[in-house]
Amino acid sequence: MKYCNSCRKLHNDNEETCKECKKPLSSIKDNNTPVFLISAEGFEKDRIIAALSDAGIPSDIKRQKKNNSANVVTGVDMSDLNILVPYQAYEKAYDVCVGIGAIKEEGEEILEDGEYEPSKGKSLDEQFEELNGGSKTGRIVLAIMLLILIALAVFGTDAITGFIGNLFK
Ligand SMILES: [Zn+2]
Repeated sequence: MKYCNSCRKLHNDNEETCKECKKPLSSIKDNNTPVFLISAEGFEKDRIIAALSDAGIPSDIKRQKKNNSANVVTGVDMSDLNILVPYQAYEKAYDVCVGIGAIKEEGEEILEDGEYEPSKGKSLDEQFEELNGGSKTGRIVLAIMLLILIALAVFGTDAITGFIGNLFK
């Protein structure tokens, strides 16, 4: 088994460079070498670390590079934390993550993006259009109601004037 010195992800022996970092891979000689288990954030990260701790597996956290542009837009710290475990505990740690649902059986991470993006699939521009459209409709409704009120006042006054006028004829 080999691992990437930069991102600490595990790789098969037949691979020479890390797919993500493009860095040459090192062979694992020390069973305590910290290797990448999963990246997570917030409560999910706490949940995984607690589960690992319960299983007697020590873990370490390495912060990934922050995506500053995303932070400006959402105001949420979206930087993932890489959870590292000793190489010898990797398989057990992986099973723990599958057990708590942090990793699907096929090894795919469960995405937690949904809770931060209520209107997923729509760009910010589209959301703005919706907001503007909504308030425009509201303004039209208000204008119509105002016209009705004015009409009522005008016709009402006329009717009252006419009625009073008829009384004194
Ligand atoms: Zn790498």
